[in-house]
Amino acid sequence: MNILVTNDDGIYSPGLAALASAAQEFGKVRVVAPDVEQSSMGHAITHSRPLSYRATPSLPFEAYRVNGTPADCVALGCHMSRDIDVVLSGVNLGLNLGTSAWHSGTLAAAKQAALLGVRGIALSTSVSLESEPDFVALAPHLHRVLAFLLAPPRIELLNVNFPTHPTGIMWTNQSVRHYDGRVVPIQDPRGRPLYWSTVASLEAADEGTDRWAIEHDMISITPLRLDLTDHAVLAEVMRSRPVPS
Ligand code: MN
Repeated sequence: MNILVTNDDGIYSPGLAALASAAQEFGKVRVVAPDVEQSSMGHAITHSRPLSYRATPSLPFEAYRVNGTPADCVALGCHMSRDIDVVLSGVNLGLNLGTSAWHSGTLAAAKQAALLGVRGIALSTSVSLESEPDFVALAPHLHRVLAFLLAPPRIELLNVNFPTHPTGIMWTNQSVRHYDGRVVPIQDPRGRPLYWSTVASLEAADEGTDRWAIEHDMISITPLRLDLTDHAVLAEVMRSRPVPS
């Protein structure tokens, strides 16, 4: 199996190293990742300038760094190696639950793979203010999840989130009832207004969602799709609101 590993935290992220190490058990790993952090870049692509693709021999993997977005890295990585079977994106330093799917560079990399007809799996873990994730403790859980998900049948696009101390794995749906993005006003040293885009903590999530799983120390696996069409609304409007002729 040929595995492309990327990570929106950048090529030197400890989460990328942990994922690439785990992935080596399952196939041939090639790392293609942004040269600097590209978190919250969503599914942006770079179309107004060329991209570089530089070998990065300081890493213990075949690795290339790109001066672009996570989606750029997957597009370029799949161009340079036409035989990629699966793209693994992560392990992100921070959870990607619910509506963060719209902003996440980690998920965008997996989505870019799916757009190209390649399997995409996004993987993220929680971080605290005090410490970075313990990737040594996470390693057996990562191995277990990869063994489970890389086995047939093939699922096109998956979003995986690891709590700090996993006690099990569950299939989940995306939590979309709440949007946790907010803007916090602050001031610069001269008293001029500035604004932080940040994430607010929310009340308890609905059972069965990705957020609920993490709150219950379970590893969350959510199958995603690229089709954003609201099929229920489409069927209803085609019946009740024929377009004017
Ligand atoms: Mn990130």
